[in-house]
Amino acid sequence: MAVSQQVFLRDAMRRLNLTRDVFAARIGVKRRALDTWLLPEGSLEARSMPEVVQRFVTEIVENDALLSKYSQSAQSGPLRDRIAVGGKHQLLSVDQFTRESVEELFSVADIMQPIARRQKVSRVLEGAVLGNLFFEASTRTRVSFGAAFCRLGGSVCDTTGFTFSSMAKGESIYDTSRVMSGYVDAMVIRHPDQGSVAEFAHATNIPVVNGGDGAGEHPSQALLDLYTILTEFSRLGKLMDGAHIALVGDLKYGRTVHSLIKLLALYRGLKFTLISPHGLEMPEDILEKVAASGLHTIEQTHSLEEGLVGADVIYATRVQKERFSEGQDDGYTAEFQVNRAIVEQVCGPDVIVMHPLPRDSRPGAHDLSVDLNMDPRLAIFRQADNGIPVRMAIFAVLLGVENLVQHSMRDVTWSPPSHIGSDDAAFHGMY
Ligand code: ASP
Repeated sequence: MAVSQQVFLRDAMRRLNLTRDVFAARIGVKRRALDTWLLPEGSLEARSMPEVVQRFVTEIVENDALLSKYSQSAQSGPLRDRIAVGGKHQLLSVDQFTRESVEELFSVADIMQPIARRQKVSRVLEGAVLGNLFFEASTRTRVSFGAAFCRLGGSVCDTTGFTFSSMAKGESIYDTSRVMSGYVDAMVIRHPDQGSVAEFAHATNIPVVNGGDGAGEHPSQALLDLYTILTEFSRLGKLMDGAHIALVGDLKYGRTVHSLIKLLALYRGLKFTLISPHGLEMPEDILEKVAASGLHTIEQTHSLEEGLVGADVIYATRVQKERFSEGQDDGYTAEFQVNRAIVEQVCGPDVIVMHPLPRDSRPGAHDLSVDLNMDPRLAIFRQADNGIPVRMAIFAVLLGVENLVQHSMRDVTWSPPSHIGSDDAAFHGMY
């Protein structure tokens, strides 16, 4: 098998759009057996899938692909050409994706998992240099993009803030972008002004990734969020189509929810409950886009308690104070806080609680509470961990090396810890 059995099986389930239970029944095996084949290599309970099962699954997937070829126009050509914007291999908005292309990207992310889990190394981007240009605060996005590039064998040059860049001397976006393009092979850019990353992208032909443009978009975050939901749903036996997603907090300025709701809208029959204080509602133009398909239900409420009832996913966000005008009140009172009490009171045992992070843990902020930290329904650290395989997949696709990764992998020479965080021992073996 060219790919690992976990990648093979997850890809098959995604293509066939089947839950684990239905997939196990379809291929005539016990759900428990399927679960052990899906565990990461090296985990104690992991088992090898018999060859006859592999052949059977391949046959089912091929037949399904043949059928859908007759019912829809076949996708062809490299993924980077299909998601290109203005003919360039850049990632500026989730609008560049279809359901098929986003799931193809996730198959590449699955291939990256052994590298992200520090079992394997790869050098497919050896010699390539990434320019990480962050003109706004960042920890996760900047470091995880950098680490993802390094884990594929490339190296990274960083700049942070305006103060130490030539923009403080009045340099234009065009000049900065053109100059950087002579130094590096790809750029990730974060900037406080909406539309500014697209301006950078216009001035260059090298791959540019939008790392967040003001209140605009944060496409890589939405991609890793969707990847997380699909992974968690696979474990819980749920499908994306028909899911109930509750988005909570600052939906006006929060760019992660702007990108995420559009990406989720690629699926069918979703119910979105949008919960925010007065004045921080989701912008109308985004709501119109999501509603345009006629496939989804959108409800808006100012009551957290009512909005969370029946949710499969709670996606909490931070109030984006940095985008408020001086003295503006956020209206974000304690009633909006997602915490243990409200989750126990209104949610089921298989809800997942997400947040793009950082969460504001200062008193009075009422952001996602730390009292859920040891609750396995809290997926925030698994979500943040997924930033690595998804961002590796983005680079591999934009730089056209996704087909080289599998065969380039070697075992790591050091010994990483079996659990990377003190909180995740409880979740070990969940997949
Ligand atoms: N890290 C996310 C962003 O850059 C979320 C946040 O800052 O609240 O948009």
